[in-house]
Amino acid sequence: MSIEKIKDNVYAITDGSTRGNVAAYVLPSQVVFVDSGMHIPLMKKFREQIEQETGKKASVLFITHAHGDHVFGNQIFEDCQIITSELTHKAMVDSKQNNWTPEALEEWKKNSEDPKALDGLKIVLANKTFADEYELIDGDVKVIIKRTGGHTEGSSYVYCPNYKVMFAGDNLFNHSFPWGGTPTSDPVKWAEAIDEYLSLDAEHYIPGHGSISGKEPLEEFLEYLNKVIALMKDMIAEEKTEEEIIKKADKIEYYPPKEGREQWKKLSLKKWYEVLNS
Ligand SMILES: [Zn+2]
Repeated sequence: MSIEKIKDNVYAITDGSTRGNVAAYVLPSQVVFVDSGMHIPLMKKFREQIEQETGKKASVLFITHAHGDHVFGNQIFEDCQIITSELTHKAMVDSKQNNWTPEALEEWKKNSEDPKALDGLKIVLANKTFADEYELIDGDVKVIIKRTGGHTEGSSYVYCPNYKVMFAGDNLFNHSFPWGGTPTSDPVKWAEAIDEYLSLDAEHYIPGHGSISGKEPLEEFLEYLNKVIALMKDMIAEEKTEEEIIKKADKIEYYPPKEGREQWKKLSLKKWYEVLNS
């Protein structure tokens, strides 16, 4: 695990050791973490190291969305406010009841690179929710969490205008194909979200997976997404079949999915077609 110090007061882990990226914003009197990854011992170490280095305590964990690789470290923050959108909370409650069964969690454990990553896993839900936006103010520093939808309907980003750092969660997969096949994925909301990210006064964008960047990968992704949406809308208007539409959309060039995730592209295109055709 390597902790990147992005700038004074902002730290992140983006090397894949925690699966989903995680970050910490150091505010005047407290530390705010974003997402908890899916490696419990490393998340514990991250929290301890930042608290030790800054002499400040963790107070809040913001959750961008409900996927296991972003929330399975929540138990490290049980003594904090765990804040997420109502829709993400609802999705986590639903996953806890229906998807994260003991058998399914065994599968997650088997598939994680470090066999000890999920030892002692306990599903911890948010204890505070917001509908669309929540602001935390500490001294003269503000941190905003705002829901946009996109990757999932509850997907939210975290932005600190003072530090000019935003955390996008899985609405950004820098330089690889995103996962757009979730039940509530929406390409139009997703494109609107990226547009909004670009309008922020941010110097550093932290994706859900991949490395930290400036605005370039966002512009690239937005261009791709807009091409897919325009093509699909045109072909739907021309009453082309689903198969024809997905086949043509598949030819629009963009980064391929990561190894082992080859099905992501087809499933994402299928989902986006369904949304645009509804
Ligand atoms: Zn996700």
